[in-house]
Amino acid sequence: MTVLTPWGELPAIPVLLVVGILGACFGSFANVLIYRLPAEESLIKPASRCPGCGKPIAWYDNIPVLSWLVLKGKCRQCKSTISIQYPLIELASACLAVFAVWKWGATYSGMASGLLFIGLLALVIIDLRHWLLPFAITIPLTFIGLGGAAFFDMIPLSTALIGAAVGFGIFLFMLLGGKFVFKKEAMGGGDVVFGAMAGSFLGWQLTLLMIFMASALGTLLALIFIVLRKGVAGREVPFGPFLAVALVICLFWGQGFIDAYLKMLGR
Ligand SMILES: [Zn+2]
Repeated sequence: MTVLTPWGELPAIPVLLVVGILGACFGSFANVLIYRLPAEESLIKPASRCPGCGKPIAWYDNIPVLSWLVLKGKCRQCKSTISIQYPLIELASACLAVFAVWKWGATYSGMASGLLFIGLLALVIIDLRHWLLPFAITIPLTFIGLGGAAFFDMIPLSTALIGAAVGFGIFLFMLLGGKFVFKKEAMGGGDVVFGAMAGSFLGWQLTLLMIFMASALGTLLALIFIVLRKGVAGREVPFGPFLAVALVICLFWGQGFIDAYLKMLGR
């Protein structure tokens, strides 16, 4: 088994091993984003500190996954528990990076998709906890998507640009419409830039499918809650996780859905 790299086809195992280590490091950064972005803290300073005793964490105690295992989930200084979320996010990010490169190669597409998946993981966790989709994640990913279309033929540039505009426009319309009609916010500014990000990767056709699919998933979950008699008062669950799941489904199978639909219409 081989993987496409800038140096031609190389044996898969060593390439994916390196990609997994890089992915775990990005996962480490995703942890920083998850904890610091909602608190509006700087991403660079201060360096990692123990949430328990506040002492700086040495580099050898900050190695993704391994340090947590070696320290058995406890701070070296104060022995307070370090959340299992840290190694889990790092491990998940490593898997997502390996998967993206296995699927698309060690190419711009593979790298961009890996970063998108890790970014979505961070977005889902932040949205579930804080109802936020931070621009600090969605804006860079929008440019990574557009860059892929402009320079690496991920999708045609016009499709990506229209996609970003359509995603941005639809969520802005829902945001303003919700404010005007219901006098409350059904959408946040975070959803609007999420729309642009999705559009830059998916193109406009699949962005429309993503929004439809996310709404359907949300409605389905609401119905399940009603059937289980848990009740849903207003909007208890943020929309971001549904959008993220729908985005990934559309990235993999969206074109298949559209082709099947067009065939059904006899085109
Ligand atoms: Zn400590």
